[in-house]
Amino acid sequence: MTQHFDFLAIGGGSGGIASANRAAKLGKKSAVIEAKYVGGTCVNVGCVPKKAMWYAGQIADAMKYAPDYGFSLSDISLNWGKLIENRQAYIDRIHASYSRGFESNGVTLINGFAKFVDAKTVEVNGEKITADHIVIATGGYPAIPEIPGAEHGITSDGFFELHEQPKRVAVIGAGYIGVELAGVMHALGSETHLIVRKEKPLREFDPILADTLVEVMETEGPKLHNFSNPTAIQKQSDGSLVVEFDNGESLTPVDSVIWAVGRKPATEQINLSVTGVELDQKGFIQTDEYQNTNVAGIYAVGDNTGRAALTPVAVAAGRRLCERLFNNKPESKLDYNDIATVVFSHPPIATVGLTEPEAIEKYGKDNIKVYRSQFTALYQAMTSHRQPTKMKLICLGEEEKIVGIHSIGFGSDELIQGFAVAFKMGATKADFDNTVAIHPTSAEEFVTM
Ligand code: FAD
Ligand code: NDP
Repeated sequence: MTQHFDFLAIGGGSGGIASANRAAKLGKKSAVIEAKYVGGTCVNVGCVPKKAMWYAGQIADAMKYAPDYGFSLSDISLNWGKLIENRQAYIDRIHASYSRGFESNGVTLINGFAKFVDAKTVEVNGEKITADHIVIATGGYPAIPEIPGAEHGITSDGFFELHEQPKRVAVIGAGYIGVELAGVMHALGSETHLIVRKEKPLREFDPILADTLVEVMETEGPKLHNFSNPTAIQKQSDGSLVVEFDNGESLTPVDSVIWAVGRKPATEQINLSVTGVELDQKGFIQTDEYQNTNVAGIYAVGDNTGRAALTPVAVAAGRRLCERLFNNKPESKLDYNDIATVVFSHPPIATVGLTEPEAIEKYGKDNIKVYRSQFTALYQAMTSHRQPTKMKLICLGEEEKIVGIHSIGFGSDELIQGFAVAFKMGATKADFDNTVAIHPTSAEEFVTM
């Protein structure tokens, strides 16, 4: 018998779960189809396990500072197995909380891989399911370049399956994932190489962020290999891996190579062609500002739309879609501008708004005023392991409206959210100046520049 729903989410990740729950809360008969693990990328192989590993790295870093705070430490060793076990136990608790949420909201969870039969029908486990409204929230998967030996490398998915800590690791990629995983492995004590094909990692970020990260990497590690474009991975007889580059050079052998060269949309295997939904050349689903595809009744949210691949974006887009469809809010949509984001690097990076080059290009150099601050966070200042903190405010016109906020350094990850609220409200430099500082913090620099 064919089951019918008012609202159906294909994919039980950040976007699918949020939208199905919201539809159900608004009184609709709602379902989620999930092929693997509820929670999708973020919970299982993304934000959550990554942040757990980053915290482990933070603890390792703290042990470097501890002696200067008077602690004497002995027998510091990492039990990787214990770390992974506790990380998984936490993820299991998140799974359980999702199940409770579905139950209390009345969302039906269907385990299996969905394929379209037509624009109103999908098939899963041999059964047909129809829905008035279908949101495609299938997310994405890691890209692997087509070079000889590429299969010897793992991706971020494989990283989270490692049951032993690789002693030597090469991370290939210049974006969020490359920088974050290389930072974690270095902090946890692996010999770590970050392989970047162009001049620096995080090229798209404000120069103060990328350049300071490079400065810290050059002093502390991981070992950065710029202008290194991998052409092959050779597996040695002892199982170690050698990465070869187009400049004829190669890396010293490592135990693990991690590909972090971007992600692809999971849109190839869902038989989308029967619906007529349009994709771009890279396979991302084309949506308008309301998450509509070109086919009535089919929507898409999250990573498979190719816009700001972040969990809160998928969640917010899915919820706003359901508010529009089911709560009489025809204008409900996500504003994709000025989304704050953090790279959990060592030290962390936080940013919202335009970079300085973007602001100059958009408004002209004469209309932009830039305020900078550079210092050592108190946490590190009293130790022999100093690290720079650098901040930048980019202001527009005479009114000095803030159009960019950038920070790298200890604590940057936790300070940006509040500033992002002020930013969204249209704050000016004078508003920041009128705010009394909280002392002693790093964040106070933004209101005392
Ligand atoms: P996903 O969460 O990927 O969910 C899609 C789900 O659909 C998957 O569970 C998949 O199994 C399922 N699926 C696919 N096809 C089908 C089908 N045909 N039938 C049934 N089910 C299907 N974002 C942040 O904001 N902060 C971070 O710190 C952060 N860290 C990250 C770290 C890593 C290593 C990675 C890889 C990503 C990270 N992200 C982070 C990005 C974030 O995980 C994604 O933006 C977010 O998960 C996207 O949500 P989504 O709903 O679009 O897709
Ligand atoms: P990104 O797109 O951020 O970065 C991948 C980078 O790899 C590219 O920018 C490119 O850098 C480089 N690259 C691409 N192809 C190759 C190649 N063939 N060889 C060598 N290098 C190559 O992708 P990620 O996979 O890092 O992350 C995907 C998305 O997930 C992010 O954009 C982000 O939205 C999200 N994410 C968010 C996190 C967070 O919020 N903290 C954490 C992790 C992921 P270049 O052109 O400079 O060489």
